[in-house]
Amino acid sequence: MTSLDPRAPLVLDTRELGRRPGSQREVELTVPAPAQLGIEVLSVPEGAPVELDLRLEAVMEGVLLTGTATADLAGECVRCLQPIVDEVHVDLQELYVYPDQHDKAAEHDDSDLDDETSRLEDDLLDLEPLLRDAVVLALPFQPLCMDDCPGLCTECGARLADDPDHAHDAPIDPRWAGLQQLTQDQQD
Ligand SMILES: [Zn+2]
Ligand SMILES: [Zn+2]
Repeated sequence: MTSLDPRAPLVLDTRELGRRPGSQREVELTVPAPAQLGIEVLSVPEGAPVELDLRLEAVMEGVLLTGTATADLAGECVRCLQPIVDEVHVDLQELYVYPDQHDKAAEHDDSDLDDETSRLEDDLLDLEPLLRDAVVLALPFQPLCMDDCPGLCTECGARLADDPDHAHDAPIDPRWAGLQQLTQDQQD
């Protein structure tokens, strides 16, 4: 396991809580978004501000983090490819367990703690995995510019929402097109 960089924007220092259960600290900060925060079609642009409003509270097993994260989103509608500008607001909650707590639990074969457990390293916690999971869960699976986006015209690719009465001359039915070809061949 690589150790955490205390200068990384999403790594928080909990040392001043002093491992005294009940001691707590409010943290408000704005950090640049890491790359690929979101899903392919909708995400927080890399480097865009992510506003964090957090509370760190020492409990018996570790440090409990609660709070919110807010950031702007940019993406495109999966039906008509129109740019989407939106905002994401997520609740965060995670218990970061002291490393020695984990060892103790392992001795007692405590199945509450497994590889998924977030841990403190040298009193530092890494917010990034939590933030990533929360943002991805909050995003729509298929972002749309509006709920009933009609998408693009299959004939010419025009955005139908811009032109609801959009119409083309009736295309030649492919079955008749085949016949027409046949008649022409016979005439040659
Ligand atoms: Zn759309
Ligand atoms: Zn068209």
